[in-house]
Order: sequence, then C-alpha cells, then structure tokens
Amino acid sequence: MDQNLKRSIILEHYQNPKNKGLIEDPHYCKVNMNNESCIDEVHLMVLFDQDKIKDIRFDGEACAICTSSTSIMISTLIGKTKEEAKEIIQNFEDMIDEKTYNEELLEEANVFNDIYRQPNRKKCALLGWWAIKKALEEGLK
Ligand code: ZN
Repeated sequence: MDQNLKRSIILEHYQNPKNKGLIEDPHYCKVNMNNESCIDEVHLMVLFDQDKIKDIRFDGEACAICTSSTSIMISTLIGKTKEEAKEIIQNFEDMIDEKTYNEELLEEANVFNDIYRQPNRKKCALLGWWAIKKALEEGLK
C-alpha cells in the first residue's frame, strides 16, 4: 500500500474516529484496556447479536495511532461473526509481530503493516484489538 494513502487513512480515522463516544445501553459488553508505555486508555463497548458483532463503540484517551487503529478495527469488525472477527484479530496481531498473515482479511487495517519499525508504537496499534479480543472472550462465556 502506498505510503501517502496509508497516512491519509490513518489521519482520516484519527480525525473522524468511527463510533467514538459511549452510550447508556445495558445490552453492550464493556471492556477497558490501558497501555502503560503511552497515554492510551480505551473503553470499548460491544453489542453482539447471537453470533454476530452488531455494534462496537469506544472512548478514552488515546494517541493518534491508538485512536486510528481502534477506529479501523471497529469499521473492519462490525457485521462480522465472532469466528471471522477472531481470525481477523489473529492476522492483525501476526502482521504487527512480523509473521505471515492474510492481507486480504485485514482490509484497511493493512495501513499498520510497517508499525514494527517503531516498536514502542506497536502496543498503541494493538490496544483496541486487544480490547475487542477480551470482549469476544467474555462474550463467549
Ligand atoms: Zn499510544
């Protein structure tokens, strides 16, 4: 993916994050995640419709990478089944860890494919994804 395109996608999600702001709704599953190596704190709320992820919202203090990555995670995973989401999350983690991964599955999340060059930002990119992973684990109980 072209560097300029990557930058503009990251910036767009940072400036206009998808579904930012929490709502009062007891049907959502809530999780929090923080990153001690940055300012990041992500509060995520997830609505499941049986096997599907119907909605995800987030809020919190987060740096540009974290906000953008969480917003991209939300746009990528809404409408997916839990199994599809788990596979996408795994591939995202593999990409960040420089392992082989399925580029097609990641859609816009591919913009973080060179974040390994900034090891201290890896957690920023991963935090929102860890939060949804936790929600999926709790949601599966
Ligand atoms: Zn950060």
